[in-house]
Amino acid sequence: MVDLHALQLDNARALLEHASHKLPAANASATQYLQTLIDNLCELSLKDPLTGLSNRRYFQTVLGREIEVVARSGEPALLLMLDIDHFKKVNDTHGHPAGDAVLQTVAKTLTTCVRPMDTVARFGGEEFVIILPSCQGPYGYQVAERIRESVNSLNMTVAPGVNLRVTISIGGAFAPRWVRSTPELWVERADSELYRAKADGRNRVCIEPQPILAVSAEEKNLLFGPLSLDDPAWIESMVGDGSVGHQAVQ
Ligand code: GH3
Ligand code: MG
Ligand code: MG
Repeated sequence: MVDLHALQLDNARALLEHASHKLPAANASATQYLQTLIDNLCELSLKDPLTGLSNRRYFQTVLGREIEVVARSGEPALLLMLDIDHFKKVNDTHGHPAGDAVLQTVAKTLTTCVRPMDTVARFGGEEFVIILPSCQGPYGYQVAERIRESVNSLNMTVAPGVNLRVTISIGGAFAPRWVRSTPELWVERADSELYRAKADGRNRVCIEPQPILAVSAEEKNLLFGPLSLDDPAWIESMVGDGSVGHQAVQ
């Protein structure tokens, strides 16, 4: 039996208290008490403290899982990478706390634009990511545009009498269907679309077009199986084909 008094749990309790997490009930059994404490700490470790969104650690887990789902089911999934335009200027002009307030408002807006099954996370700094499982091509474009417009129309009061507007650039890539990719390659493809959206003038959406696949899963396995199924980079080059040209949505 665990002796709760012998455990050094003060830091864990303080961390949860600071993050306004519920502490386990004082009259809980030792097992219940520890379980609740661990559950709450796990939850906390997957959240971004500034925005309350999921953090990069959680994002990586979901991304890996989604790749498995897409490879098995063939359901398309879209990864969006979003970056606030000229955000450094916000900090430089209005101060870091104003920048923080903008990040919080943008984060909240992102969550209102997507379905409950989608994962919105802070990737780092002024960059966000969204994983949209079971997402058909046209829906992906629509949702990305909706997000861009929603942020574009925000009018944020960051200090008395100080109103701010920001824009975001969005890059997107679909997971290759029926074949297993890697999180790194998927992120890389979405990131290069984001780079393109920035280079094309910002405040826009660029999504890598989905290749049209007219072969069945079985045929695909026959085709790719003996060759290099354990080389995701090769698979991406064949299936997530960057050579078919890019399509920008503005
Ligand atoms: P671009 O349109 O090319 O993305 O330009 P940018 O200014 O948004 O990009 P840059 O990478 O130059 O600047 C990002 C800024 O984001 C710099 C950094 O200080 C700021 N930043 C990163 N994390 C935070 C944060 O948590 N709070 C605040 N207030 N600022 C942050
Ligand atoms: Mg950035
Ligand atoms: Mg930026």
